[in-house]
Amino acid sequence: MAERLAGKAVADAMKDELANKVQELKAKGIAPKLGIIRVGARPDDLFYEGGAKKTCEVIGMEYEVFEYPADVDQATFEKAVTDVGANKSVNGILMFAPLPKHLDEAKIRSLIPVEKDVDCMTLGSAAKVFADDLTGFPPCTPTACMDILKFYNVPLKGKKAVVLGRSLVVGKPLAMLLLREHATVTICHSRTENLPAVCADADVLIAAVGRAKMVKADFVKPGQVVIDVGINEDPDNPGKYVGDVDYAATEPIVDKITPVPGGVGSVTTVVLCKQTIQACEMQNGLA
Ligand code: NAP
Repeated sequence: MAERLAGKAVADAMKDELANKVQELKAKGIAPKLGIIRVGARPDDLFYEGGAKKTCEVIGMEYEVFEYPADVDQATFEKAVTDVGANKSVNGILMFAPLPKHLDEAKIRSLIPVEKDVDCMTLGSAAKVFADDLTGFPPCTPTACMDILKFYNVPLKGKKAVVLGRSLVVGKPLAMLLLREHATVTICHSRTENLPAVCADADVLIAAVGRAKMVKADFVKPGQVVIDVGINEDPDNPGKYVGDVDYAATEPIVDKITPVPGGVGSVTTVVLCKQTIQACEMQNGLA
């Protein structure tokens, strides 16, 4: 039976640390603050926003939601994002994407100052992640994967890590973070040949494909650590969520595995707060 890598234990430990950090900063007269930019009211965005606000409240960090109607025009929204970027009280910015189709998302992303870009919305942040420049923040989800691996003492140096998925928000930055820890990294995608065999060769397999229960028993091997990033509606149980990994089929084989729900998703909003506090420290010359 595999060890279950619960996200809650990771999140709880991080929250304690962050709460202390917020108190230390407040004692110096500095109040870190997250700015959340949302257009419209998509249920997924509202769900994530609720989690982010709750995490801020638990650690004593301030937040402000900047909300705009779904039909906001380009010029108005550009000014709004520029204003939030220039707002001295806001240290980190989360902007929900994708934006409505009538907006030029690339242009709007570019208006977020890199030093406040705590979820890697800008090409400037992506370049820094690629270049191992620690002043650039990776997206929260890959960072959450790395925090889970670290918390559970999973060795990475010299190990074979396979990342299944090459999106800009998960797969590619995650590969960079694994390289930073000296793993030997393979990135797989929809054109990868012999996919199950490539995945089964990994010491650490991270699945971020967006396909419910795609990773079956033939993708894994004994001794392996499996991190499941996927959040998909369960085709067998509408209204319930499952990962990209078939937990029931793989858990009896591997050494350690994250559950869905209760795995990576439980850690991402805590990472958002962690990166906002780091941004605040950098903006105040403390890091
Ligand atoms: P995405 O942009 O759709 O990218 C999916 C990747 O998987 C692509 O690189 C795609 O390959 C690859 N892929 C798709 N089908 C495949 C197949 N049959 N075989 C091999 N590779 C395949 O998705 P994403 O935004 O990275 O998200 C991935 C999953 O993570 C989703 O379930 C999403 O809901 C979840 N997610 C979770 C969190 C969290 O906090 N836990 C945050 C973000 C996302 P190509 O590039 O070749 O098309």
